[in-house]
Amino acid sequence: MIEKTTDSVNFIQKIIDEDNESGKWDNRVHTRFPPEPNGYLHIGHAKSICLNFGIADKNDGKCNLRFDDTNPTREENEYVESIIEDVNWLGFDWEDRLFYASDYFDQLFEFAMQLIKSGKAYVCDLTGEEIRTTRGNLKAPGTESPFRNRFIEENIELFNQMKSGNFENGEKVLRAKIDMAHPNLNMRDPVMYRILHASHHRTGDEWCIYPMYDWAHGLEDSLEKITHSICTLEFEDHRPLYDWYLDQLDVFHPQQIEFARLNLNFTIMSKRKLKKLVDENHVDGWDDPRMPTISGLKRRGYSPESILNFAEDVGVTKRDSIIDVVRLENALREDLNKRAPRVLGVLNPLKVVITNYPENHTEMMEAVNNPEDPSTGKREIPFSKELYIEQNDFMEDPPRKFFRLGPGREVRLRYAYYITCTDTIKNDKGEVVELRCTYDPETRGGSSPDGRKVKGTIHWVSANHAVDAHVRLYDRLFLKENPDDGDNFLQYINPNSCTLLENVKLEPSLAIPENITYQFERNGYFVKDEKDSSENQLIFNRAVSLRDSWAKFLKQSGH
Ligand code: ATP
Ligand code: MG
Repeated sequence: MIEKTTDSVNFIQKIIDEDNESGKWDNRVHTRFPPEPNGYLHIGHAKSICLNFGIADKNDGKCNLRFDDTNPTREENEYVESIIEDVNWLGFDWEDRLFYASDYFDQLFEFAMQLIKSGKAYVCDLTGEEIRTTRGNLKAPGTESPFRNRFIEENIELFNQMKSGNFENGEKVLRAKIDMAHPNLNMRDPVMYRILHASHHRTGDEWCIYPMYDWAHGLEDSLEKITHSICTLEFEDHRPLYDWYLDQLDVFHPQQIEFARLNLNFTIMSKRKLKKLVDENHVDGWDDPRMPTISGLKRRGYSPESILNFAEDVGVTKRDSIIDVVRLENALREDLNKRAPRVLGVLNPLKVVITNYPENHTEMMEAVNNPEDPSTGKREIPFSKELYIEQNDFMEDPPRKFFRLGPGREVRLRYAYYITCTDTIKNDKGEVVELRCTYDPETRGGSSPDGRKVKGTIHWVSANHAVDAHVRLYDRLFLKENPDDGDNFLQYINPNSCTLLENVKLEPSLAIPENITYQFERNGYFVKDEKDSSENQLIFNRAVSLRDSWAKFLKQSGH
């Protein structure tokens, strides 16, 4: 991977360097990636994963994987499994440090009791709505809860009863006793525990009170002896509370550091909204190749390396910005250009009969696997009398600048011969359905001994040897650059985001494709869809075209 030293990488690295210099953490660097298992991971999470595991790697440190499973109503084991798989697939290793917030529920309860005993937390009977309305706003202080001055003994008793299940959902909460006039709204007696009679995917029905994120997160970090707790900017306003909780207890106190989250144009990046796309069947599951999820990108044909390179390329900053999704696509192109084996595949076939080529004859043509990487060698592909070429490589009445095939015109067949179109066969609608061509036997391998030049080179597949496949071509899932800024992102879904081609002809080496992304020459990068392909039906997904066609489109449409 190319090491890029942007200022942005330096901002967190700088803090670490300073800490190492002052000996703040005894030269330890310990980070964590703390997903909530309420959906599949997306490309934004990938950035956080690369950052947390990357920082640990670069500094000889450690990074934990920790599930922040404090909300049983939204969390599921399916999500836990997918997250483990995705972080693994990206190539990161948490060794034996896989943790769950739910492992700390007992400990967190004890800590809460300590706060109650020191008069810094109380049980409050106000409803959620009342708590909201009494919090005040940026201009006005909040009003204190009538339950704020309960005796410590009463609070202990009530909190125990909350835990025992004596109350209904919402009947009571535990709140920190901080300051209802604090300029930071998060400090106005925030809720620490709420009652939720719900089954948890790991602790079952053991608990009916669950800790709030702010209360739990810092203590989880503390218990794991995290040094640098890296999170996204929206938690900046929560940092005083993070610090306050840790200061009330005699515990290890990590440092929270915020960075700007990754935003991509033409993309939705909220698990809640991605879930809506899945639940309402706008896409074919979380791993639909159009989804910005890690599993979707994987199914689309992205490599882990391209995602890591992308994360490195966009860097880490303190300022929110929107990254052009083309940069993600280009990271993939760059990676695959170096690595993807090149093969010939015809997406929209047009039959060609070489009239002067012998019947029932096959010869093997030598083809280069990847000119960018000579070590990948060569392979042979069969050539015969009947071929398929791409429909749009022929025009009956071509303009002067069209360098492909037309009546009387000559082109080079990649790795094979020069051919000249002599005749066209049409159906009763007048559409060309077959071409008759002659080949020049002297041009084997693609050059002419008489020095005769042709301007165009087109790809082809031998008809009798072709492997049949379906191909799915993808376009952006959203038509709007910022689908998230209106009230309903669903209205911007691109109705033509997937096109199925059902008559695709591939060279025979693809009969049993490997689990890698190929370049179909001139057509882009393709990967076999492992989920939908069957023994009788091979399906390929296009990961990305060879070039960015949207740049042109956006320019034309005045963007
Ligand atoms: P979402 O809002 O998409 O549902 P989240 O922040 O609720 O995401 P978590 O599971 O809580 O999702 O996130 C785990 C970690 O990933 C957190 O540290 C969070 O800050 C980080 N993260 C989430 N989204 C992004 C993003 N777009 N860019 C960078 N980091 C992100
Ligand atoms: Mg979250």
